[in-house]
Amino acid sequence: MKVVYVDNAATTAMSDVAIDAMTPYLKEVYGNPSSLHTVGQIAKEALDDARARIARCINCQPREIYFTSGGSEADNQAIRSAALNGARKGKKHIVTTAFEHHAVLHTLKKLEKEGFEVTYLDVHKNGLITAREVEAALREDTALVTIMFANNEIGTVLPIAEIGEVCRKYGVVFHTDAVQAVGHIPVDVKAQNIDMLSLSAHKFHGAKGVGALYVKSGIPLQTFVDGGAQERGKRAGTENLGGIASMAAALEYAVEHMKENNKKIQSLRDKLIDGLLKIPHSKLNGDRCSRLPSNLNMCFEGIEGESLLLLLDAKGICASSGSACTSGSLDPSHVLLALGLPHEVAHGSLRISLCEYNTQEDVEIILNEVPKVVDYLRNISPVWEELEKGAKPHLI
Ligand SMILES: *Cc1c(COP(=O)(O)O)cnc(C)c1O
Repeated sequence: MKVVYVDNAATTAMSDVAIDAMTPYLKEVYGNPSSLHTVGQIAKEALDDARARIARCINCQPREIYFTSGGSEADNQAIRSAALNGARKGKKHIVTTAFEHHAVLHTLKKLEKEGFEVTYLDVHKNGLITAREVEAALREDTALVTIMFANNEIGTVLPIAEIGEVCRKYGVVFHTDAVQAVGHIPVDVKAQNIDMLSLSAHKFHGAKGVGALYVKSGIPLQTFVDGGAQERGKRAGTENLGGIASMAAALEYAVEHMKENNKKIQSLRDKLIDGLLKIPHSKLNGDRCSRLPSNLNMCFEGIEGESLLLLLDAKGICASSGSACTSGSLDPSHVLLALGLPHEVAHGSLRISLCEYNTQEDVEIILNEVPKVVDYLRNISPVWEELEKGAKPHLI
């Protein structure tokens, strides 16, 4: 059976470019970049080279890049570091949104227990917020604003440059979880007024378990992994050089081919949206325009997202109901609830996230299978029966 993989927001297949860039560091260039001998120094050069190339892709200096084990660790370090810096000046307030990734939300929940106060901005029905709303939430004691660049479930792209401008005006540190944005849409930390940014290699065809945190020079970065002096003393541990090399190669490739890839991906995506919206009582979640070219997230009334996914999987279609991190739990996605969707509707969600490897044939398979599976599930659903009999009103 042909596998149609459309869960690229959860993770991507490694590209040949990334694998080829990684392989030498698993084989002949095995040195520790901290060793003084030649084998180590060759590794050190490769590390410096990858750092410079990644920095160029987001328009920062190489010394502003700190390698981490991925997006989650970068989020944790950025937020905890800014919180600690703020607390030292008596600032213990943080502004965020209600639909951040759990790497951000769970870190903030812990900080609340440690005495910080967090404002969770509500997102509008279209999955967006405005810089004005961020400005209105700022206080004298605000230590940090952390707002994602693009949402991982519904794909909406937030007005990051404007939010950054507001933060700069008030002298508040601005962190963005850009894991879904970097390598997919233009990211420029200078033009977009970003102080701290998280990125992760496996979301743009690099290796899993490697990412980076950008920290604008002048902003102190606190250490949470103590040990050796790697990453200028800010994150101890022998570097994942193969992963880092794969990240640099994959990111450069993604940035170089962004325009042409997005043109293709967006045209496939738009065909899917238009086709799936023909299913009665369905809706697209998140703004149609301000969204990642690769993402569509839909709700189908009267069905369970989990059942839909399992039946689609049996047809070879690998999609998601929202975030990989919430699958396995029966609660509807916190992102869809943040948009104001009722629980019943939020349960029936489907996220399709494309990449440049997807084809016209994939789109045809999805457009053929999803309506059939939705129909089948509705026919066996008591909830749908009530809706159809008019015992309950349709919500979408
Ligand atoms: C995937 C993802 C993360 C986590 O990144 P890992 O490298 O898997 O730790 C964080 N934030 C967003 C928005 C993501 O999509």
